[in-house]
Formats: sequence, structure tokens, C-alpha cells
Amino acid sequence: MSPAPAIPPIPASAPPGRAPLKPLDLALAELLALATPLQGIEVVSTFDADGRVLAEDLVSALDVPAHDNSSMDGYAVRCADWSGAQTVLQVHQRIPAGSSGQPLAPACAARIFTGAPIPPGADAVVMQEDCDTVAAGDQPFTGIRMQASPAPGQWIRRRGEDVAAGAVVLQRGERLSPASLGLAASIGFSQLPVAPRPRVALFSTGDELVMPGDVAPADMKPGAIYNSNRFFLKALLQRLGCTVTDLGIVPDRLDATIAALQGASQQHDLILTSGGVSVGEEDHIKPAVQALGSLMLWQMAIKPGKPFAYGQVGTAHFIGLPGNPVSSFVTFLLLVRPFLLRLQGVTDVAPESMTATAHFDWPKADKRREFLRVKRDADGGLALFDNQSSGVLTSAVWADGLVDNPAGQTIAHGDTVQFMPFSALLS
Ligand code: AMP
Ligand code: MG
Repeated sequence: MSPAPAIPPIPASAPPGRAPLKPLDLALAELLALATPLQGIEVVSTFDADGRVLAEDLVSALDVPAHDNSSMDGYAVRCADWSGAQTVLQVHQRIPAGSSGQPLAPACAARIFTGAPIPPGADAVVMQEDCDTVAAGDQPFTGIRMQASPAPGQWIRRRGEDVAAGAVVLQRGERLSPASLGLAASIGFSQLPVAPRPRVALFSTGDELVMPGDVAPADMKPGAIYNSNRFFLKALLQRLGCTVTDLGIVPDRLDATIAALQGASQQHDLILTSGGVSVGEEDHIKPAVQALGSLMLWQMAIKPGKPFAYGQVGTAHFIGLPGNPVSSFVTFLLLVRPFLLRLQGVTDVAPESMTATAHFDWPKADKRREFLRVKRDADGGLALFDNQSSGVLTSAVWADGLVDNPAGQTIAHGDTVQFMPFSALLS
């Protein structure tokens, strides 16, 4: 299905670098409007569904737990049988987990274990630690005395208290977590209907790029750098459930870029590139996309990450990320991640953002909205990485999140800022 252009394409003749930069919120809203969820449903083993997106509501056919059951090892009793600490109840049955008991006889107790069904007639469980056993003859014990009056309902887990039969337990559009897999299993699902994996073609542009392993550090020519974007982009895509076709490095030539885009537009839902999307003569992404399809978004009012582009080539979406590694990383988290989640049908794709206290000064305001690499410190505030250059990938490894700093804003030590933890952005 061809993605519908909901926003007008940028004319190929538009002079580079003149168009106003796009505010991030507007760009994200436009991107999400274009991210029509992929058609189809894949059925996968519940074991393999972590991180996938549920394609249908899961309705429980049973109550969980299915019976009132004991939450302790102890004795099931009838509260009315208590007539003081001297009361002796005869232990007339034993109910391990996995079996079911007989009705509780008057003035009797049932030995019971965690998870075992409460026998009919019992209305409380007394923990074994709160009972004294009473021996008789050569039997080790035949009865118990309770140290205190039992309260009705104590240590009983009620039928249906986790899940009621007929309830929607997990909703379509939810991303499955390890806990949700357990919950799905608890209502009997060995397989789950999930959204198809987005098929993503990935390539890096740049004649300076060398693959680690191809050339030893000592033999690197002047100007050559190792391709780092390819590694984190592939990992980020895989974490989001995508199937990645890694097309390697494409040279900085218009014909090569056009050929790579054309090939990648077959059989893929998204073409993701890094580099070559700026305004220099060596940046061929924009004209190549415009030669084959259309470009709808170009250049964001954010730092790092200004050179970001969205377009369409044939039936495939196209997203061009900046070449600078930190810009590439940050724009992926802010824009590509929600886009890919929406393609899989996730409704709530907004990244988590919370307030935190800056334990640093940021005295120079920028015209663009900034995303600063920061880390929570021992005092509950945020420390700033000392080099915020978009080429310094160390900052992204050191940091545990981003400060979302509005355009034109300075920050003083002690100010309240918006913090986006990587824990929410990298899963
Ligand atoms: P570009 O956007 O192509 O002008 O690249 C901007 C900067 O990012 C340049 O310094 C490039 O060398 C660098 N760069 C581009 N692609 C990569 C990559 N895949 N890995 C590491 N650095 C890159
Ligand atoms: Mg380049």
C-alpha cells in the first residue's frame, strides 16, 4: 500500500537552506499522520513475542486465580470454630497445590499449602508459624492450636482477583513486555497475534566511511573514519522489532544514491539512511529522493539533529538521518522510534518526559530546541556531559537521558528541566 502524502512535497527547486526549520512537535505530528499501521497479523509463540505489538485484544476465558486459594503454607479453618487460644482443631485432610480438598468438617482444620484451593466451609488460613501442633499417641500431631483469633478471609487469594473471565487483559496496540507475556500465558495463550515486523532497509552514506574490521586503526588513511552509525542504528531498529536489510555504505554520488534508494524501495516499509542529507555538494540524499519520489520534511529546529528528512520512494517511507553520530542517535530516538512504533499499531508513542533538577549551568541559549546529554547524579539531580558536540558519541554512552531544553532558554544550576530517560527511549 502506498503511503499517502498528507503534506505537500518540498519542490526540488527550493533553494537549499532557506526554508524555515520545522518545529519538532509539528514534524512528529506529521510523521505520525503518515505512519499508517502495517496491514496483516502474524501469530507468534508467546515465548517469542517480547517487544512485539499486540494486533488484537486478548480476552480471558477464565478467572485468575480460578479458585479461592491459600497465599500461605498453614491451615485452612472456619473462624467460628475459635473459642479461645485453647481451641484444638483436628487436622483431617492435607491439600497440596495442584489438588483440591474435601469440605471442612466441624472443629477441623485442613493442612494447606500456598496456591492450594480453599476447601468448602473454610473461611480463613492460619499461617503455620501462628499455630502450635498438638500431638496425640504415636502420631507426630493430629491437631493444632491457633495463637490468635483468625480473621475471616485472611491469607486467602480470591477467585478472579487478578483477572476476571471476559475481561480484556491486554489491548490491541500494546507493546508486549516480559510481564505481559506472563499475563497472556496465565490466561492460556501459547501464541499471540502481533503486528508484522517493519521491513527496514538501512544504508550509510559517506566516502570517508570504513568498516571496522576492514582496515586496522594503524592503517586508516587521513580523513577516513569508522562507520559507527550503522552499528547503533541496526541495533536500535532490531530493538523496535524491525527486520533490517543492511545495505552497507553508499558512495557520495547522486547516481549511486539513486540506485541504492530505488533498490531499497522494493520489499521494504522504510528506507533509513544516515549522512548526506545536509546542504553541501556531497549531500545527495535530498535530490535523489526528489528524483524518485517526494520529500515532505527537511530540516528540524532541533540541536543536535537539524539535517533530518522524511519522504517517500515508491511504496516505501524514507527517513534520512544526519551523519553526525549523536545527531543520528538523537533523531532516531525522537522521531524514528515513534514512527516505527506507530507502523506497528502502537497508539501511545509519546516518549516519557519528567521534571528534574539541573545540577549544571547552560548559559548560552540556542535558537533551536536542544537535547542535552545528561546523567542522574548521586544527589538526585542531572549532571551535564562536558562536550555536547554532535560528533562526540561518548556523550551518548555516558548519559542516561536527554534534557529537552526549549529554544532560546538558558539553564542555571537548580532550575527545573524536562528530562527524557534513555530507559524509556531505548526499549
Ligand atoms: P554528513 O551528514 O554526511 O555531512 O556527515 C556529517 C558528519 O558525520 C561527518 O563528519 C561525517 O564524517 C560523519 N558521519 C557520517 N556518517 C557517519 C557514520 N556512518 N558513522 C560515523 N560518522 C559519520
Ligand atoms: Mg557525508
